[in-house]
Amino acid sequence: MNLILLGAPGAGKGTQAEVISKHLSIPTISTGNIIREALKSGSGMGREAKKFVDAGQLVPDDVVIGIIRERLAEKDCEDGFILDGFPRTIPQAEALDRMGVVIDRVIDIEVADETIARRMTGRRVCPGCGSSYHLEYKPPKETGVCDSCGDTLIQRKDDHPDTVQDRLTVYHEQTEPLKSYYAASDKLYIVEGQEEVADTIRLTLAALE
Ligand code: AMP
Repeated sequence: MNLILLGAPGAGKGTQAEVISKHLSIPTISTGNIIREALKSGSGMGREAKKFVDAGQLVPDDVVIGIIRERLAEKDCEDGFILDGFPRTIPQAEALDRMGVVIDRVIDIEVADETIARRMTGRRVCPGCGSSYHLEYKPPKETGVCDSCGDTLIQRKDDHPDTVQDRLTVYHEQTEPLKSYYAASDKLYIVEGQEEVADTIRLTLAALE
């Protein structure tokens, strides 16, 4: 099955993707993760993307379309895949169509902006091992210190409050129109994000039936 997970940044698409990936034994392709890896490694693409990511803006369409074109050509995508964070604009969705990629379902995880802002601004990450924490929901044992490797936790630049607001604005302006794009072909399934992650997972799995 070829799936797209839609939803604002911070709506919990990554967690849902992980569960679906195990459930259907298909890989998750997250453009956000691929871009973050490129930032870390300092590759040409990473350097090009950095100013957009740090500002909470979208990386230009041609860059992400190129990433997806290459990734979907890999062998592990033959039996299906989950796109997490792509497409994020109508031109990206059109490019996917032009590549001849047939999407079976689009699952949209709906979460209120206020909830997303609380989740994202409270997030802290470990630059050493990549572990993720939350000041309110998943605090480290010792304030500011990674439980796993002892490194000092940081706040991602794109999780700063102003940047989060910018990312939500970008979402509403550029990504939300994709709901109508996919609803037009009856592919859209809406899942209301729940307080408890396990409840959202249940609804997401039901949308795959
Ligand atoms: P994410 O973790 O999915 O929120 O992605 C982090 C950042 O990577 C976003 O704020 C964008 O700057 C960039 N990014 C990820 N996916 C895309 C995409 N499909 N189109 C444009 N930019 C993207």
